[in-house]
Amino acid sequence: MNKHQYEVIVVGAGGAGLMAALNASKTAVTAVISKLYPTRSHTGTAQGGIGAALGNLEEDHPEWHTYDTVKGSDYLGDQDAIEFMCQEAVPAVYELEHMGLPFSRTPDGRIAQRPFGGHTNNVTGKPVRRSCYAADRTGHMILQTLYQQCIKNNVQFFDEFQVLDLLIVNGVAQGVVAIELATSEIHIFHANAVIFATGGFGRIWKITSNAYSLTGDGVAIALRRGIPLEDMEFFQFHPTGIYKLGILITEGVRGEGGVLVNDKGERFMEHYAPHAKDLASRDVVSRAMYLEVRDGRGINGKDYLYLDVRPETVNKYATLDGRTRPDGTPYQVTGEEILQKLPDIIDFCRTYLGVDPIEQPMPVQPTAHYAMGGIPTNIYGQVVLDENNTILPGFYAAGESACVSVHGANRLGTNSLVDILVFGKHAGIHAAQYARGAQFQTLPQDAADFARQQLDRFLNNDKGTEKISDIAEEMKITMMDHVGVFRTEEGMNVALNKIRELKQRYWNIKLDDNGKVFNTDLLNAWELGNLLDLAEVTTASALARKESRGAHAREDFPKRDDKNWLKHTLAWLKDGEIHLRYKPVVITKYQPKERVY
Ligand SMILES: Cc1cc2nc3c(=O)[nH]c(=O)nc-3n(C[C@H](O)[C@H](O)[C@H](O)COP(=O)(O)OP(=O)(O)OC[C@H]3O[C@@H](n4cnc5c(N)ncnc54)[C@H](O)[C@@H]3O)c2cc1C
Repeated sequence: MNKHQYEVIVVGAGGAGLMAALNASKTAVTAVISKLYPTRSHTGTAQGGIGAALGNLEEDHPEWHTYDTVKGSDYLGDQDAIEFMCQEAVPAVYELEHMGLPFSRTPDGRIAQRPFGGHTNNVTGKPVRRSCYAADRTGHMILQTLYQQCIKNNVQFFDEFQVLDLLIVNGVAQGVVAIELATSEIHIFHANAVIFATGGFGRIWKITSNAYSLTGDGVAIALRRGIPLEDMEFFQFHPTGIYKLGILITEGVRGEGGVLVNDKGERFMEHYAPHAKDLASRDVVSRAMYLEVRDGRGINGKDYLYLDVRPETVNKYATLDGRTRPDGTPYQVTGEEILQKLPDIIDFCRTYLGVDPIEQPMPVQPTAHYAMGGIPTNIYGQVVLDENNTILPGFYAAGESACVSVHGANRLGTNSLVDILVFGKHAGIHAAQYARGAQFQTLPQDAADFARQQLDRFLNNDKGTEKISDIAEEMKITMMDHVGVFRTEEGMNVALNKIRELKQRYWNIKLDDNGKVFNTDLLNAWELGNLLDLAEVTTASALARKESRGAHAREDFPKRDDKNWLKHTLAWLKDGEIHLRYKPVVITKYQPKERVY
């Protein structure tokens, strides 16, 4: 058995994991375990930017950012955590700048900022330029910058190691069990503090912007170890995925003046959100798109719409909206300018669609994008176990795998990158401090058994008849049809029964590969188990919530119901059954109001 010991172990090398590791490594001996090579993490695909009220181009304040985030969350976000995040966003962006992140610049050399959905000037209600960006490669630049800093700080990396289990001894977290992908050898990592930063789980749905690796491993491991999951019914559908492929087209396109149009050539968002229009929050835009398609106004009667960023269209609507540049001159763009601001998007569309966005509109549909729910934590990243916020000592979570909760029922664009930086940092600092003062517990002899059993079930199942791809496909279609942008009791019951049937069939999977070298077949099977567990929790949590709020839109309960449902869901998996309880939302300054965009 391979054994390792560190003060702090971080699982995941996306923005949250690297920020945690960098900060932990300042005072504690730290290692990062990642199933992907670090810079291949999904953070690297983030295009739009990081929201922070720097006020570089116009008046802005962290308080405005806080209010927008509370409102965007449909009042389900915890306001103390949101305030903390929006205040901390500003120094976090400057910290990255000082580490050398190549932000796009204003003509006078400051960090450039652009508008994004739901971010407003709180006095006028108009979009405010708050998103700090490096062209449309912001996430890529974050990963490169943080990875270099981690190497400089002597963080130890275990790349292409996949964590399968969390070790809890005498009620405290004590490390993880992982498999080395190249050899299938099992490793035990003993640690006084463990930080999960394993990202999201959009792969539950058929159309998704999420990478293949986003299978919710950390979230499912926590669930199996008796930790509840918070607000799993809230999963964000981003309005603009490339039709059929789901690949994301950043909201930055609409920030630069792009508009959504239907088959009649109408800019339909004017009817749904007269003020914010195309820059209303994502849940609002995705629902509008769904309704346009349902009412027969999809392009050629099909289930997609156009996103139009051709200069003539942008200029026409900019004139109608009275949009101006920071110096007060009318906002008018050229094809070259669009190309310069959105190079990767233009490139994706040319490559994957054969469509040139400077000359043609892009076919788009809502795509499963972001998990608002996850492992419950406080603002220091400490994982909490119940409605009294009881801490599990030594266990931390940050980034998309965690639920602080700052996004509530709906996340605003650019707020995930803020979340991973701010809470990754504080989890790292707190975990290192805790680990330095804690005693190592003796690990039991059978520490790796639970993980090993989960793999052996597949390796020893010669008589299996099921294929991984069939079960995965049925899960994805079921979730897309019944637990997507709009939901009903009937549909979710169908989904729940189907997921439970798939969970039975899951144990009858036959692998094509029983070898030891890079056995991706084995790990795909294990990952599918995580997705099925999370699909079940998502559906059960959604079925129980009899209201519509943020990303959770029920046709049978179309209104938000603050009297009964202004509360967070906590879901446990016990003996194969899901148990739900609830905890109150933290409200400080902002009493719930109706959301108007
Ligand atoms: C296409 C796209 C564009 C986006 N654009 C923006 C944007 O412009 N602005 C914004 O704010 N947000 C954006 N988001 C959301 C945001 O990028 C993500 O929510 C965020 O980057 C997640 O970071 P993370 O560190 O939590 O996880 P990730 O970056 O997903 O990293 C997860 C890490 O966990 C590791 N891991 C997972 N499971 C295991 C395991 N079992 N064992 C070992 N390692 C494991 C992986 O190797 C990886 O290193 C976008 C998301 C997508 C998909």
